[in-house]
Amino acid sequence: MRKKYDVAVVGAGPIGSYTAYQLADKGFDVCLLDEKENIGEDVICAGVISKQAFKRYDLPSKSILSRIDSVTFISPSGQRLEYIPQDIFTYVVSRKIFDRGLLKTAKKVGVDVYLKQHVINIKESSKYYTIICTKKRYRSKTVVLATGVNYELHTKIGLSKPSKFLYGSQIEMPMSFSQSNIQIHLGQKFAPGSFGWVIPAGNNSSRVGVIVHKKGRIWLEKMLEQRLNFSVEKLNKDDLKLKPIAYGSVKRSVKGNILALGEAAGQVKTTTGGGIFYGLLCSEIAVDKLTKTIKNGCSLNDYELAWHSALVSEFDIGKRLRKIARTLDDEKIENLFNFVKRNRFWVELLVPRIDFDYHSNFIFFCLKSFGLMSKA
Ligand SMILES: Cc1cc2nc3c(=O)[nH]c(=O)nc-3n(C[C@H](O)[C@H](O)[C@H](O)COP(=O)(O)OP(=O)(O)OC[C@H]3O[C@@H](n4cnc5c(N)ncnc54)[C@H](O)[C@@H]3O)c2cc1C
Repeated sequence: MRKKYDVAVVGAGPIGSYTAYQLADKGFDVCLLDEKENIGEDVICAGVISKQAFKRYDLPSKSILSRIDSVTFISPSGQRLEYIPQDIFTYVVSRKIFDRGLLKTAKKVGVDVYLKQHVINIKESSKYYTIICTKKRYRSKTVVLATGVNYELHTKIGLSKPSKFLYGSQIEMPMSFSQSNIQIHLGQKFAPGSFGWVIPAGNNSSRVGVIVHKKGRIWLEKMLEQRLNFSVEKLNKDDLKLKPIAYGSVKRSVKGNILALGEAAGQVKTTTGGGIFYGLLCSEIAVDKLTKTIKNGCSLNDYELAWHSALVSEFDIGKRLRKIARTLDDEKIENLFNFVKRNRFWVELLVPRIDFDYHSNFIFFCLKSFGLMSKA
């Protein structure tokens, strides 16, 4: 344990690797630790990442499996509403290639990567932190926790975890739908208060999933049987994957010179459960604040203020939408579809407000239109 790093990043998911890359690129001594032996293996994710995110950040384009140019919303009875923007607006990626690509980029700029390192605690001494793994220890002036939905370190070092979770359940299976269209399925019989998806994942396979408040696997089975007429008897049940998704931010994401980032800080869309864009956005903020901390000894508390003000209205409106969605029975959902079909003028006002990564403008407009703001 001789070397003392400027930053130790715990977690080599996309947000940890991208943060390590940015910091090393600025000339800092950075190490990146992950308990996995093979990064990108067994990741449970639909892999939908906006074209905007690819434009703004240096992301591995080799990971792109499908280019999406339309979304179809399907009501409980099967009514369809198409959203067809002028161009491709989002991509579907292979998380294996995506995560490994980001790790490779980090290594290229000099990040020291240590795999099979399960971090079990972090101890503070007067001048640095000791990052304690099962067998080894590392020293660093600052620490970034990018551990995803694993909050065991948070509790030990005095950071909080999200107060609630949603559950994402998904299966990847051979199913040939359009390779450039995403289907969003609505209905209380398979995704109560929420939604299910069918997403093209290249090679005539699709990712079918639901995001729900509990019992994810059971609702996914219902979605497969009742929505897609697919007998779950034919499936290996182990292929139905399940993972919690942070619902809302952690209250405390900074302790001394340690900060939490990405899903480890709850930086996930409260509407869809997407975490990669917000994680990358907050990574930019974290890198700026860490630079000031390492160079000038500034406090990291600014990080929390900065990322909260960037995302708080998005989190808030997403939660309001989910609260209302839980009160909508299938008949009310059908009525909403009928309303949209009948009111082209309203749709023309709505469309310019649609943004793949920022949903507040669009949701606010919908809630206002239906007089639901007071109920949310
Ligand atoms: C079903 C489902 C569908 C989703 N679909 C999308 C989507 O389409 N688009 C999107 O943007 N997001 C989606 N998400 C969310 C997205 O997958 C996460 O937000 C994203 O992976 C978070 O990235 P991260 O780098 O913060 O954490 P992670 O990707 O979870 O990486 C955390 C890393 O930390 C490591 N680690 C954890 N604890 C320790 C420890 N103690 N010691 C060492 N290493 C540790 C882990 O091994 C892991 O490699 C989905 C999630 C689910 C469940």
